Amino acid sequence: MFKACYSPRYIAATHTNSMEKLHYVAQAVVEQSLAQLVEPNAVTAETLRNLHDPVYVDAFISGRLPLAEMARFKWSEQMRDAILTIQGGQLTAARIALDEGMSANIAQGFHHAVYEYGGAYCTFNGLALVAQEHPDKKVFVLDCDQHGGNGTAEFTTRLTNLFNYTIYGLRFGCRDFERSMGRLIPRREGNFSLYTHALQDAFKQILIQKTDLLIYQAGMDCHQADPYGSPWLDSALLYQRDSMVFEFAKRHNIPIMFVLAGGYQALPDVVKLHVSTFQAASQFYGSGTSPQQTAASADEAACPPATAKAAALQSEG
Ligand SMILES: [Zn+2]
Repeated sequence: MFKACYSPRYIAATHTNSMEKLHYVAQAVVEQSLAQLVEPNAVTAETLRNLHDPVYVDAFISGRLPLAEMARFKWSEQMRDAILTIQGGQLTAARIALDEGMSANIAQGFHHAVYEYGGAYCTFNGLALVAQEHPDKKVFVLDCDQHGGNGTAEFTTRLTNLFNYTIYGLRFGCRDFERSMGRLIPRREGNFSLYTHALQDAFKQILIQKTDLLIYQAGMDCHQADPYGSPWLDSALLYQRDSMVFEFAKRHNIPIMFVLAGGYQALPDVVKLHVSTFQAASQFYGSGTSPQQTAASADEAACPPATAKAAALQSEG
């Protein structure tokens, strides 16, 4: 069984379910014995100042507006501690992946955050952070969120050991750079064959760059029922996408960590999709899971009962 970073401190109250979903994904991962949870420590402000503009970092730490709310989450001490713990989880997961070959952080990668500030629910760029903290390792981000990873793309111009390949349906201002490539798969006219070709191209780049650590942003906002989704991309195909990535990393013995990234459907639906990524990973990195596990079983992933929601949130404190 592989390890996944998670802490109840990852959760803070927001106007979205993007932190709430982390709790339910972690719960399902434990219930289904998909991964062993590891509780990380918070990242230090000093570490973040090495990555982002210190003015921005200090504003977020102290709650100074408007910078502290650039990510569009209302600032609170609980929110600050959640973000710092999630970023700590990013570094712990990276360390585990380098040591053991596989890990996850039950949180998003925050790919829209640029050097000077965050944006679109992304406070600090947790993908670039890994490259910053491992300057001797080539860190390759394979970003399959529906939005282009503009922040990570920009960070490749600052961190020479960071590579970014982003496959998206919505560009989100994402530009290509020397070490960052984007591939648009149109939401309406696209299809999974085009998506697969992009994935294969990304795999080629991962090998060409002699990647030491692969970070997979397993975004679920490209799902057909998501407000941002592509109509042709269903749950079974997303399970297939995830399986292709894990199979590739395993076959080439490339250490991999994955994060959840976006997903904006109702809580039970989005949790089911994120849990299916863990199920896909378990085919290759789990213990006692049949390699023949099918997409059908991904559809049976636990979903949080709506009635349990309030009680669970209360237990978060
Ligand atoms: Zn997204």
